[in-house]
Amino acid sequence: MSSAPIGILGGTFDPIHYGHLAIAEEVRVALRLDRVLIIPAGEQPLKIGKHMAPPEHRLAMARLACADNPLFEVSSIEVDRPGPSYTHVTLQLLHDQGLDNLYLILGADALADLPRWHETPRILTLARIVVVSRPGASVDLSVLSQIFPALPERLILIEGPRLDISSTDLRQRVAQGRPIRYQTPDAVVAYIEAHGLYR
Ligand code: ATP
Ligand code: MG
Repeated sequence: MSSAPIGILGGTFDPIHYGHLAIAEEVRVALRLDRVLIIPAGEQPLKIGKHMAPPEHRLAMARLACADNPLFEVSSIEVDRPGPSYTHVTLQLLHDQGLDNLYLILGADALADLPRWHETPRILTLARIVVVSRPGASVDLSVLSQIFPALPERLILIEGPRLDISSTDLRQRVAQGRPIRYQTPDAVVAYIEAHGLYR
């Protein structure tokens, strides 16, 4: 028998926002997941060299944003590991902990990155991929399915709430002194202010 179905939402969460929380909830309900693990990347391999808030801050904001939902669990499994945060390593570690029914949640923009990820075929054996729609991102499976023949049978497409919120935009807004309230929980807004992030 396989273990309870668990969603995995990885990202830089720089900062976490309602777009992330809304897709996690959408997938949790649609697939009747037991819970969703929110996993901030330590070092995101595809964003190396880009300025990012330190992992402790991104983790703390994720914890604040998820504090009122017992079915969202923030994991430090990637922040605690030195070096680049490869998803296949994280999934293997979770699998070794007995979690063998994993659903890796991706926004539609992130799906297109699969060819640039490490060990994508391995990822497809360790988890099903759940792709959620995102404004401005279209899903083109033809090329991806040629590169990864196992993808179609491991893929679930979910129509999400299509919130047009991105961390990039929130960082720019803070830098420009514009508001981010109502795009991320109040506790995250307060944390960003208290620590002077993104100025
Ligand atoms: P950045 O602009 O810094 O890349 P982001 O808003 O894209 O930030 P990430 O941490 O890169 O946030 O995203 C983590 C995951 O959440 C990715 O799979 C991404 O596609 C997904 N995601 C983020 N925002 C949304 C959104 N508004 N709608 C759907 N998916 C989203
Ligand atoms: Mg992104």
